Amino acid sequence: MSENFDVIVVGAGPGGYVAAIRCAQLGFNTVCIDSQVNPQGRASLGGTCLNVGCIPSKALLDSSEQYHRLSHQFPKHGITAENISVDIGQMQARKRNIVNGLTGGIAQLFKANKVVSIHGFAKVISEHTVTVTNDNGQLVQTLSATHIILAPGSVPIELPSIPFDHRSVVDSTGALNFEQVPKRLGVIGAGVIGLELGSVWNRLGADVVILEAMDEFLMAADHQVAREAARQFKKQGLDIRLGAMVDTVDVGQDGVSLTYRQKDTTATEAVDSVIVAVGRRPATDGLLSPDCGVSTDARGFIEVDTDCRTAVDNIWAIGDAVRGPMLAHKSAEEGVAVAERIAGSAGHVNFHTVPWVIYTAPEIAWAGYTEKELKAQQREYKTGSFPFAATGRAKAMEEAQGFVKLIADKHTDRVLGVHMVGPHVSELIGECVLAMEFHASSEDIARTIHAHPTLSEAVHEAALAVDKRAIHKFG
Ligand code: FAD
Ligand code: NAD
Repeated sequence: MSENFDVIVVGAGPGGYVAAIRCAQLGFNTVCIDSQVNPQGRASLGGTCLNVGCIPSKALLDSSEQYHRLSHQFPKHGITAENISVDIGQMQARKRNIVNGLTGGIAQLFKANKVVSIHGFAKVISEHTVTVTNDNGQLVQTLSATHIILAPGSVPIELPSIPFDHRSVVDSTGALNFEQVPKRLGVIGAGVIGLELGSVWNRLGADVVILEAMDEFLMAADHQVAREAARQFKKQGLDIRLGAMVDTVDVGQDGVSLTYRQKDTTATEAVDSVIVAVGRRPATDGLLSPDCGVSTDARGFIEVDTDCRTAVDNIWAIGDAVRGPMLAHKSAEEGVAVAERIAGSAGHVNFHTVPWVIYTAPEIAWAGYTEKELKAQQREYKTGSFPFAATGRAKAMEEAQGFVKLIADKHTDRVLGVHMVGPHVSELIGECVLAMEFHASSEDIARTIHAHPTLSEAVHEAALAVDKRAIHKFG
């Protein structure tokens, strides 16, 4: 069977499914091909994000946070509960229900927007042709289109010396599916996944040791934010060891032995399970026929220009498989922008304002430049910060840790970056991203009325603090 479309989208993660829906909204006859299956072997739209990424991890983060609160924070509110227990089976079932609901929702959105959905593995054969093979590797369809958008996403990096056995040595997907709480859990990599999934199992009772190769904790974050986060994680019992390079992992009858180098010493650590969370790589294996004209770099990323156009004019690539941060919202924005470019309008993605959020407790969020980056640019700036401990709402919530820091240009006062660690900062960062998108000054935020008592008052006060006029703090 051969079919003609205006646009073929490869991948139905947040990049691909959003691109497909936007293309359909713009009047293009669109097909989206995706190979993801759920644990039952059935096609499941939504990519890494909905199936094995953002959504299931946040479901478990929320469940484990509720449990942790009940046992550790509720007594301060005067609420005590006896015989508190965790039912991991129910927690996992709740997670699966959320995932099934949302992935099914994408199928409905496709239907409503008349996006043709095909399950299978796509390969770009030439400028306008894509083949689809089924789960058994048999060729089932050849499709052609005026434009092709590639959104194949990414997969976990497997270290050659530490292969996954998917039982005791797992990737993030395995770590989302533990059926019982490991007594002692090793995590390789103190990046976003290591911290989020390490937190989940730590809150549920595992002793968690995180081994991070770099000497600096959360290098991409503001240094004060990273320091405060490290302090809070230590208090929670997360044992984070920096400058620790894991060499080997031995899986035995009674568990796993990790051997790592730290400075000049070699140490071993005995654990029940290990999560390897050392980054992700583009899922481009088998996607491109060698003579289709689309090029990849040495690490497998599809090479694109700033507009997401590949070396072939009518083939575009977006999301985790191209340069830039591996974030669902970045993929989705590129998807919208490419659809609009195909339609002849100006697509817009502002890389400077892509927000980063780490869903630990306290949460970490930032957008824009760090002080370190501004110093490297020799740009003059001023900062204002405000602690949550001085906001009534955070106190009332019994979550008065962390702060908001705002960085503004010394001469123009334009907001250049905002960095936060504290309660619900994943929600507070939105206001700051909007401010930066509108080229606001710190004065603009300072003169904006923020409801009292809310956590957002910390953003307001941080903006006032840029000009040394915060009301509710000394100095
Ligand atoms: P993907 O979501 O990876 O989707 C690609 C799809 O294409 C997949 O379904 C894949 O099966 C399919 N595919 C690949 N090759 C082919 C082919 N040749 N033919 C057909 N189909 C193909 N990001 C956030 O912003 N916030 C978070 O909180 C967050 N949490 C995360 C938690 C975890 C545990 C993980 C692993 C990731 C998390 N991420 C988070 C990252 C986020 O999931 C990715 O950035 C996002 O999913 C990338 O979207 P994408 O569309 O580019 O690719
Ligand atoms: P990451 O790049 O965030 O962190 C990997 C960490 O592993 C780094 O700190 C690195 O120094 C360390 N490392 C690498 N090799 C090592 C080794 N041999 N021994 C010890 N440490 C080693 O990668 P990740 O945590 O795997 O996450 C992958 C991607 O998924 C991220 O880029 C992120 O964008 C995305 N993600 C985002 C969210 C979110 O937005 N909240 C959540 C999860 C994942």
